[in-house]
Amino acid sequence: MTERAYFDWNATAPLRQEARAAMLAALELTGNASSVHAEGRAARQVIEAAREKVANLVGAGAKNVTFTSGATEANMLALTPALEVMGTKHWRDRLFVSAIEHPSVRGGGRFAPDAVEELPVTSAGLLDLRALRSAMVRAERPLVSVMLANNETGILQPIPEIAEIVHAANGVLHVDAVQGPGRIDCRIGDLGADLLSLSAHKLGGPQGAGALIRQSTLFGDLHIAEPLIKGGGQERSLRAGTENVAAIAGFGAAAVVANQTDAAHMTALRDRLEAGIRAATPQAIIFGQGGARLPNTTLFAVPGIKAETAIIAFDLNGIAVSSGSACSSGKVQASHVLAAMGVEPALARGAVRLSLGWSTTQADVERLLTAWNKVVSLLLKPHADAA
Ligand code: PMP
Repeated sequence: MTERAYFDWNATAPLRQEARAAMLAALELTGNASSVHAEGRAARQVIEAAREKVANLVGAGAKNVTFTSGATEANMLALTPALEVMGTKHWRDRLFVSAIEHPSVRGGGRFAPDAVEELPVTSAGLLDLRALRSAMVRAERPLVSVMLANNETGILQPIPEIAEIVHAANGVLHVDAVQGPGRIDCRIGDLGADLLSLSAHKLGGPQGAGALIRQSTLFGDLHIAEPLIKGGGQERSLRAGTENVAAIAGFGAAAVVANQTDAAHMTALRDRLEAGIRAATPQAIIFGQGGARLPNTTLFAVPGIKAETAIIAFDLNGIAVSSGSACSSGKVQASHVLAAMGVEPALARGAVRLSLGWSTTQADVERLLTAWNKVVSLLLKPHADAA
């Protein structure tokens, strides 16, 4: 296969060398982490060391980290009416989610559908704070879920400000921080979040591992009264089932190196990408440009070019990119994120996402831009030529 350039880090990042090494070492172990013998204790020790590392990544205590199979499960675990603080039920009666959340949050978790409300975002992709304030007045015991960074646009939400509004109403704030680590600082205390979801494979760990961090500046050690998976007492009874030791070990190792990524380097590459796209297609619309965004993400559309056509053309030229939105059997659905921002459906259907990471090079960027020049000269060829 010819050399390829990978620009789909927001879908999944490459496995870090450190994570691979930790996983291979863990695969050599035999013990079940719940067993009391030496083999079991060795597996337990790997899990607890990883817990410490993931906790450090977000400035939490190790006891407040619950390992899950990924962020989808962490979100499902968090979004429940049945919270608990120091052994006392801390019931939530309504769930408010922003309109641009990942489907695993937008689905409302374990709340009854009529207890879930969607909050609008502005045309800049930011949570409408007026709508949030009025929701907090209406609700008695709200749970609010707002993502740190949008996976499609990279747009960042003002989480500390949102936390203040939610806490003033005695609400609990869950933050899906999946796209944060390795790109921006993501410490739970600074954000003011009470619950925080992470996914290993977005930060250089393996697919199929994640965590829910339960640590509130207001409520302390938040507990989930109703586990999602019931059975044995693993993960302080919050997540039954024998732990995936190797995946957890890989998650821990990736967490240690996640913040060694040079954000300024990623921003420079991203800006070069955007300048090159604008030079080739001045009519390109770059969503969220000018606002606070992740350093690694560009979502753009060119009127007249469909996302699926561009993605296939890039792929044939050795470049992996994606549409920002859900893509099943190759057909791109209109993005709910862009729809919530009021972007016209025809334009939204052309949205192409480029996301990069720690090992992206200047040469990768130039390869993508060369491919883009080729792609647009084919796709935007005047009709007379095409005849
Ligand atoms: N939230 C966001 C913002 C995501 O980007 C993703 C992954 N696409 C998820 C949640 C789900 O994560 P996982 O793949 O670990 O279930």
